[in-house]
Amino acid sequence: MISTPDKAIVIGAGFGGLALAIRLQAAGYATTLLEKRDKPGGRAYVYRDQGFTFDAGPTVITDPGCLEELFTLGGRRLADYVQLLPVAPFYQLRWDDGTVFDYVNDQAELDRQIAALSPSDVEGYHRFLKYSEALLEEGYVKLGHVPFADFRSMVRVAPQLVRLQSYRSVYAKVAHYIKDEHLRQAFSFHSLLVGGNPFSASAIYALIHALERRWGVWFPKGGTGALIAGLARYFEDLGGKIRLNAPVARIETLGGRVSGVVTEDGRHLTAGIVASNADVMHTYGKLLGHESRAAATTRSLKRKSFSMSLFVTYFGLKRTHPAIKHHTVMFGQRYRALIREIFNGHHLPDDFSLYLHAPSVTDPDLAPPGCSTFYVLSPVPHLGNAPLDWTIEGPRYRDRILHYLEERLLPGLRQDLVTCRIFTPADFRDELNAHVGSAFSLEPTLTQSAYFRTHNADKRIAGLYLVGAGTHPGAGIPGVVGSAKATAGIILADGQAARGAA
Ligand SMILES: Cc1cc2nc3c(=O)[nH]c(=O)nc-3n(C[C@H](O)[C@H](O)[C@H](O)COP(=O)(O)OP(=O)(O)OC[C@H]3O[C@@H](n4cnc5c(N)ncnc54)[C@H](O)[C@@H]3O)c2cc1C
Repeated sequence: MISTPDKAIVIGAGFGGLALAIRLQAAGYATTLLEKRDKPGGRAYVYRDQGFTFDAGPTVITDPGCLEELFTLGGRRLADYVQLLPVAPFYQLRWDDGTVFDYVNDQAELDRQIAALSPSDVEGYHRFLKYSEALLEEGYVKLGHVPFADFRSMVRVAPQLVRLQSYRSVYAKVAHYIKDEHLRQAFSFHSLLVGGNPFSASAIYALIHALERRWGVWFPKGGTGALIAGLARYFEDLGGKIRLNAPVARIETLGGRVSGVVTEDGRHLTAGIVASNADVMHTYGKLLGHESRAAATTRSLKRKSFSMSLFVTYFGLKRTHPAIKHHTVMFGQRYRALIREIFNGHHLPDDFSLYLHAPSVTDPDLAPPGCSTFYVLSPVPHLGNAPLDWTIEGPRYRDRILHYLEERLLPGLRQDLVTCRIFTPADFRDELNAHVGSAFSLEPTLTQSAYFRTHNADKRIAGLYLVGAGTHPGAGIPGVVGSAKATAGIILADGQAARGAA
């Protein structure tokens, strides 16, 4: 018999784990968050060096309302903990042929830039925006935080999914409305931000465009790390406990339900509720490797496809580059063929498309006076497809990327370097326990979404719950914060049902 039904353990302090822990603590569960690393944040870890602050992962904050809602639960405001600053343009998009497009949230300015590239696409863009708004309503506002526990729940939404042609790809739908290839790329690359191949991710993910247009793109003062610190402090203010440097070695079960966890250093912690924010394959294959009830899910996860990985180079420069925007996407010469190689290839492609993050544009305090902070990210195949030796490949790849940036955007870059570090697919695997070093967990295809994604509650092991990028609705901050809402909803309903039965 478990004597601790109101005690919860959350494994992993990513955005999803923090959001779930806050919801449980606010609902009266005594909640402990166990994090493997020395800081909370997961993909949103922070590095500091010589006065530079580097956010390791997420930098584009969308739907601030999903974060505000967490603070409302405890009678607080997000602004009590962290300040969100608007970012404009949302992104600057650049192509090798010299085309530049400022993706702004001003309709007239957007229309002007679209017309400059392709006058007939202005009308097509407006129809695409309407389509994206319809997807946002169905796929995010209505379903983004609703768990798909059984097949009936999937059948119920199937008519809307068919009506919105979610069986088509993001790129196919964008191309249906827009003819110019630059613009097709500009409005289809967004699925990459949640690990989706624009040529195979469900068109549902085209909702990201409307989501950005409706609620804006933001950046926390102090960086994404300041948002993580705010969430962690708020959780502790509610009475929750965070233990860092506390990797969990296994989830314990007794008679078909969870009873607690054992940490790598051998400590046993009991709880009636255990929720894992760790990678889904790590959770089932390792933490529950001893539990026969987990075997079927592990087998099924082994058959699934995982998103690509990322190669990230963080660097600080001893000068500023005033013309650079906060977010720049640099498209290479190939789009479709490059993406195919990133998702399905077995080698590191020779060319790349890059995302450059320049946070000190919005918050100069992230760099020493007169200096600037950057990271540049390149999507690369995951280790399951391309098992490269990143100790050798990493420094070479970094040098190629810095050279490319220096030639096109940041003259004198290598001379101005003060600090530089890399994060490779091997680091995703070793630091974050990410299966095959995937940066975004399960690939967001239609057959791996909603009911077909890892469920937010395990149906064979009572008291075991999942939260984060591998669960419904998927990766990205709004996704994992939505998954926390879905998971918390099931936990609270299960708790009520148990109390009713007692
Ligand atoms: C470089 C990069 C850029 C991105 N940019 C954006 C962006 O701009 N906007 C956006 O919305 N999204 C972005 N994303 C996606 C987004 O960051 C992720 O989808 C999201 O943060 C994942 O959150 P999560 O809750 O799944 O947990 P994760 O961040 O994956 O955290 C899981 C935590 O579990 C811990 N853990 C693992 N195993 C154990 C164990 N055994 N015991 C204890 N703890 C364990 C890990 O250390 C980690 O802290 C980006 C991702 C990356 C990698």
